[in-house]
Parts: sequence; structure tokens; C-alpha cells
Amino acid sequence: MQEGGVWDRDIQGLKNIGPKRVLLLKRMGISTVGELLYYFPRDYHDRSRTRPAAACGSGERATVRGVVVGGEEKRPRRGLTVTRLFIDDGAGRTVAVWYNQPFIRRQLPVGTPVLVTGRVRRYGGEVQVQVSDYEAGDPDEPVSAGRIVPIYPLTEGISQRLVRSLVKSALDRWGERLEEFIPGDMLSRYVLPEIGPALRAVHCPDSFPELKMARRRFIFEEFLIHQTVISLIRKKVRARPKAHAYPENSLLEKIFLDRLPFRLTPGQSRAWGEISRDLQSPYPMNRLLQGDVGSGKTVVCALAMLKAAGAGLQAALMAPTEILADQHRKNIAGYFDPMGIRVELFTGGMKKKDREALIEKIKSGEARVVVGTHALIQEDVKFKNLALVIIDEQHRFGVRQRAAVRQKGPNPDVLVMTATPIPRTMAMTLYGDLDASVIKGVPPGRKPVETVVCPRSQAGLVYGEIKKEVSRGRQAYVVCPMVEESEKTDLQAAAELREYLAGGPLAGCRVELLHGRMGAGDKERIMSGFREGLIDVLVSTTVVEVGVDVPNATVMAVVDAHRFGLAQLHQLRGRVGRGGHSARCYLISDAGGGTAASSRLEAIRTISDGFELAEKDLELRGPGELFGSRQWGEMPYRIADPVRDQGALKAAAEEARRLVEGDPGLMKPGNRMLAREIHVRFGGFNFLPVG
Ligand code: ADP
Ligand code: MG
Repeated sequence: MQEGGVWDRDIQGLKNIGPKRVLLLKRMGISTVGELLYYFPRDYHDRSRTRPAAACGSGERATVRGVVVGGEEKRPRRGLTVTRLFIDDGAGRTVAVWYNQPFIRRQLPVGTPVLVTGRVRRYGGEVQVQVSDYEAGDPDEPVSAGRIVPIYPLTEGISQRLVRSLVKSALDRWGERLEEFIPGDMLSRYVLPEIGPALRAVHCPDSFPELKMARRRFIFEEFLIHQTVISLIRKKVRARPKAHAYPENSLLEKIFLDRLPFRLTPGQSRAWGEISRDLQSPYPMNRLLQGDVGSGKTVVCALAMLKAAGAGLQAALMAPTEILADQHRKNIAGYFDPMGIRVELFTGGMKKKDREALIEKIKSGEARVVVGTHALIQEDVKFKNLALVIIDEQHRFGVRQRAAVRQKGPNPDVLVMTATPIPRTMAMTLYGDLDASVIKGVPPGRKPVETVVCPRSQAGLVYGEIKKEVSRGRQAYVVCPMVEESEKTDLQAAAELREYLAGGPLAGCRVELLHGRMGAGDKERIMSGFREGLIDVLVSTTVVEVGVDVPNATVMAVVDAHRFGLAQLHQLRGRVGRGGHSARCYLISDAGGGTAASSRLEAIRTISDGFELAEKDLELRGPGELFGSRQWGEMPYRIADPVRDQGALKAAAEEARRLVEGDPGLMKPGNRMLAREIHVRFGGFNFLPVG
């Protein structure tokens, strides 16, 4: 197949679809045939066994096969249309029911053979199916039973039917022509089906065992591609010495450390030792610096930047948001200003004139230390001699972005910092191209936050404690959970809780509400009110997770704590106990003993170290459960789950390592197709070692 193959081919060639739908599909991430073929179903309905509705129990989910023999439409009230089609399923008459889909009657006229899936209900002598999914055949050709039907994730305006038929055309046109790219010995070692049959089976499986085999292939494929890229980057970074060098043990570093109002913790010293060894090495650094919130990562990265600035080279620090970039600039400038090193801030919100002036200074090399958002590397900013790039929070910063950063300077040193504890085994595989440093422990003098789990019936006592703390001049957070699907009701629940607290248990305290749906201005007003002590108690949804630093806050109550993940609870708890006062975190929950939720709450109650918690989290998650992958940075997977599929991940990582070790250029005939696939999927980035 020609360069790019299905990944280059527009889906518009498959079928006549209008521009509006093309746009919607594009938003779903489907513009090419490749993206369509890799748009995997989120679920499957088993229609292979159909039964007459009368044979099903009420409330049961069933698929009924029959012929439309009549129908009617009802409008019981404004805005509600009920379409009822009578279906002869061989054993009797079943009523299939649709809501607000008046076009169904036209689509399924009398005489049409149909397959309807949904919940069975008995209603005044009738047997009904509340249809969630259906399929129609030709009058001469009954619909095929014996099918397992794919259910795709959708957006409004795009139907299952459309996606299914697009996928079908893609499979018919391209399925047989796809070339295998997983080396043959791996396919046989792990007993995996080839690409063509696997794609057909993942979209239109004939049986569940066949589906399982196909899914295993794609899970392995995703891990193999990602792990191969990681191994290639690792190899490539070590293949070419860097152009710059830093002086050893500079005087500046000694002055900097002497001026600090504290001494580095053992964890900081060890991490700095590893980083400075990398900087001193002839090959570029490619390192992940992990450290819990408050472990003191900033001072370590400032030391690295100082080394660059001191050598007349440039260093850039990138943060995910403008607010965080600004915060970093202030902190770093606090260290560097007295030493006469200017720290520049580059953000999207700059005035045009300032921006141009700064770009000029970056180009000339005059600006040595630049802090900014990701715009700093994404946009057309040219550095004179960029030696060091530091990325704060690796969220959304995958291998692709890491590779892009490398191309910003002549082989710069790269340090990625994260405060999200990642279990060690996961970090080793997901960030395997990076060496890892961990800052263990926090600076001395911090008291751990006492964590108490209590049932809802004792919430009153918790609010009593909060009131007491407020009377001592302290502040508190009350956090209630937010569920994505129903932000509106959450807002209502949070607002009601605030009303209740302000009028009852916390009467006399200044209680305010902070919610994710508020405008930025309102949020900022509430936050600064809390920071300045004009608000005593902040009732909020999880927005307090993000970068809030109010040392006077000493109590946190989390309502329905079982609805939060361990990582989230850990982040939330980290908001209190930042000042000199002792702090408490109440986890209010009725989660019963022995449940997964109660084990999680027990873990957070007894463990204060983020890394230990991350390991525990991994242990507590059963196979197949969803996990908080979003907090672990960019997950380049559509179907694989590094927790559920740990075995496959390990195997693929091992295979990738061996592959790249034995064939660093992926030049051997059996590996060339994989090299090409990687090249195509990663947008042409060249991961292969070059001279
Ligand atoms: P994070 O790792 O979350 O980025 P920071 O670098 O912001 O943490 O440090 C948190 C706080 O701890 C800062 O106020 C910093 O000045 C202070 N700090 C850092 N290192 C030490 C230390 N070794 N001893 C005492 N305080 C420290
Ligand atoms: Mg930080």
C-alpha cells in the first residue's frame, strides 16, 4: 500500500455524507479511513439469541425478531411523541416503543422485518419492548439473527447506523488490503490474529471468543507501538552527544545554596545529584522528576536552570497554564533576582509589543531564563542556544510532545516534573524513555494531616469542629463531589449544602460557594476572598484541587468521600496543613465495611505518602475497572488499559526493548513495516537514530 495508506485516506471517499456530518465525525476524531477502522466499539449487544418477548421476564433486556404488522403514534403531552409499532414475533404480538423519534414509522413501514433490542415491560396486558437499538431488513430478506452488534461511542447527530455502515464500507474496501506490521514471530508467540481479520472481528464479531482474540491483538499492538517508540527515543537520545557543556561545581551554585533559607532535604539532594550528573554527561538528559506536592521540586529545577544561565546558555520552564507559569516565574525570580539573573515570562496573553521584544531577546540569547506556557515551544519562538527545557506536569505531554521539545534546540537536556504519584511499574513502562528521579519525603516541620473517616450521621459533629476552628481564626473547605454527566444537579447540591450550612450548623460563619461552572471572574473573586481571609468556609466541588495555597486553612471535610479516587483525595487533602497549625481531613461516607470503597478510605486514612498511595491504588483496582489514567498524563491508547492489561504491557515492553536492541534502525525486513506504521501514526516524527 502507498505511503500513509488508510491513515491518509479521507472517509469522504467511502460514502456520501454531508459536510455537517463530516464535521461531527471529525470532532469524534474520525477523518481518515484509518481513524475509522481504529474507532473501536465501546460495547457489544448480543443479538445472536433472539426470543419472543412473551418469553422474557419484565425488566429483562432482550432482542426480539419479527415483522412490523401495524403502528400508531401518541402525544400524551407537549414535547413527547410515543411511537408504537406492533411486531409479530411468531409467538404473539409485541409492542415496540420509541420516544421522540417520529421518523421511525416512516423508516419501518408495515411488512418490514425487524430486530429490536431493549427492556421488556408488561403493561395492561401488553408486552412491550422499550427500544434502545434496532435494525431493519428488506421485505424479501429477513434481518440476520446470530449477530453480535457493535455499540460505538457517539455524538449528537451521528447514529450507530451511520458509524456501522461507514465501518462496513471501510472494511469491505480496505480490510483485505491492509498489510500486517507486527513482526510474524510475535504474532505466533502470543497467538494473535492478523490485522485484517482482527479488524473485522473487533467490529463485527461472529462470536465472543473471536472478539476477545481480536481485542487482545489491538491491546498488544498499542502497547508494542508505544513501547517501540519509547525504546527508539531512549536509544536516539543516547546516540548523539549534546553540543553544550556546563561548568562543573560552579561558584554560582554554592552561592545559591548558601543563600537559601533552608537546607535541601536528603530527597532533594539525591534528585539534584542525579540531575547534575546528567547535565555533566556528554549525552542529553531525559529525566522525569517525581515528587509529591510540597516536596520542593522548584528549588531543584532552579538549580538546573542556574547551571545553564551561569554558563551563558538558555533555559526554559513550561507550565500547563498561565496562572501556574506566572507562579513559577515569581518563585524562580525570588531565587534569581538577588543573583542578578533576570527571569522572563512568556505567555499567550502578552501585549504584542512586549511579546515581540521578548522574542527578540530570546533569539539573541539575552533572555537566559524564560518561564512560560507550552506556547513557548509550540509557537515560532527561536532560541539562540537552548540547553535545558523543563516541563512542569507531564499531563498531556506524551512521547510525541517530548520529541517535539527536543527539536527546539540542538539536542537540549529535558526534565519533566510531576506531582502526580505514579506507581513505579507504570512509570517505568509509560515513561520508559525517561530516567526517573523521585524526591522522597517533604521538608522538615510539616505535620501530617490527621484523617478521620465518619458516617453521614456524624456530619453534624464535623461541622461543629469546623465552627470551632473558624472561631479560632482558621479556615475550612467543604468539598462535595461532581459527576461529569450531571453538572447541573451537582451545582444544585453544592448550592443547597452551602445554604444549609450557612443557615444551620455554620450560622455566623462566612460561607461561600465555589463551583466549576462559575465564570472565571467570579471564581477569582471567591478565591481571593478566601485567600485574604474574608471567607471562612469554602463549599466547593473539586476545583480546589488546582493550585490553591491557603496556609490558614486547617480543616477539610469531603462529603461522599467514596465517590473520589485515591489520587484525588490525596490532592484534596494536600490543600490543608500548609501552615504551622495542625490540620484535619474528615472523610464523610456511608460506604460499608468490606467494600472496595471502604478499603480505599482505609488506605487514605492510614497512608500519607503519595507514592505509597499510588501503589495501593494499583493494588486495590480489580482487573477491568476504570482507573484515573487522565491523571497520569497522556495515554496514547484507545483500547488498552495499562492497569487491566498489565501482562500484555509487560510483554510488549520486553519485545520492544529486544527489537530495538537488535535492530536500532528497524531495517530488517520483518521490522520495516512496523517502522513505517510508527512513522505514519506519529505524524512523521523521526524516532530512528540519525547521524
Ligand atoms: P512542589 O514540589 O510542590 O513544587 P515547592 O517547590 O513549591 O513544592 O516547595 C514547597 C515549599 O517548600 C516552598 O515554600 C519552598 O520554599 C519550601 N521548601 C522547599 N524545599 C525546602 C527545604 N529543603 N526545606 C524547607 N522548605 C523547603
Ligand atoms: Mg510545584
